[in-house]
Amino acid sequence: MSRAYFQPAALEEALRIRRDNGEASLLAGGTDLVVAMRHDRGPAGDVIDLSKILELKGIQEIADSTPVTVNGIHKMTGKIRIGPMTTFTEIMESQLLREAAGILCEAAETVGSPQIRNRGTIGGNLCNASAAADCITPLLCLNAAVELQSLGFDGSKCTRILPLETFLVDSKKTDLRSDEILTGILFQRPAVDMSFAFQKIGRRNALAIARLNGSCAIRLAGNTVTSLAFALGAATSKPERIERAEEYLTGRELTDEDLAAVGKRAAEYVLEQTGVRASSSYKLPVIERFTASLIRAAAERSTTL
Ligand SMILES: Cc1cc2nc3c(=O)[nH]c(=O)nc-3n(C[C@H](O)[C@H](O)[C@H](O)COP(=O)(O)OP(=O)(O)OC[C@H]3O[C@@H](n4cnc5c(N)ncnc54)[C@H](O)[C@@H]3O)c2cc1C
Repeated sequence: MSRAYFQPAALEEALRIRRDNGEASLLAGGTDLVVAMRHDRGPAGDVIDLSKILELKGIQEIADSTPVTVNGIHKMTGKIRIGPMTTFTEIMESQLLREAAGILCEAAETVGSPQIRNRGTIGGNLCNASAAADCITPLLCLNAAVELQSLGFDGSKCTRILPLETFLVDSKKTDLRSDEILTGILFQRPAVDMSFAFQKIGRRNALAIARLNGSCAIRLAGNTVTSLAFALGAATSKPERIERAEEYLTGRELTDEDLAAVGKRAAEYVLEQTGVRASSSYKLPVIERFTASLIRAAAERSTTL
């Protein structure tokens, strides 16, 4: 089969090629797309390689107008913007992310191998939309949004900003339109008293796709949970926030009994979504303990505990 290969150097050119060639695939690092094409599972059309487009790379903080002072320390309250062509290695090595949203660096560190982390991008991770994608649950807990751009036939740019949870429709299915490109991942710098944890269970320590992964963002006043974001991946058809766990624990003291109860609620939710499967007898008890362990891990990092 022959395909045309495009390598635009600017976003606008890529958007134009995309608009005029609805069947074409966008190529980022290729660690999902090229593997699928090699096994004849990939899309058949032309390829638009995004690797030369500088506007799609890098990590920045866009300052809000009003910085805040916490405990006498002057803090930025900016919005963080990650270009979709940023690799896992660049995420791991970003000082800004380490300091503002270290959970994303922790998740990136667990991806594949050095070779995969050097090529694979965060945008590819979101757009491939695997239920097990490691960078999705941290971004769900950061309330991230995605920026999608397209080019009209009159040359005008159209931008949609969607919450990440709306963008992810189902396993391997997103709300990306055939003329759109993911151009940014955005989230507000988390409050300084918010603490985070990411955990992953794989079949082995390296090069393992998650059998279960998850993220937690927690804020405590003493031992009482004042806010909780909790997301699981590889549990249901897409990574998602487990609202009934969040609602149960918010306002409660963090006790062993309540951690066990919240684990049960997470497992019940997963069972309702997936029905009984061959893996359920293994997975549901694991989800119970994983949930408790993840929330505890985030809480133990809290400075107020
Ligand atoms: C050996 C191996 C191990 C792996 N281990 C892990 C792991 O541990 N954890 C994990 O999460 N993943 C893992 N993966 C999967 C993969 O590396 C990631 O999903 C990666 O993030 C994909 O990014 P990419 O840049 O390679 O995307 P590509 O393969 O280039 O693209 C993936 C999909 O996203 C689309 N896309 C890419 N960029 C954009 C954009 N800007 N706008 C719109 N659509 C876009 C493409 O069209 C394609 O459909 C592994 C893969 C391999 C081969």
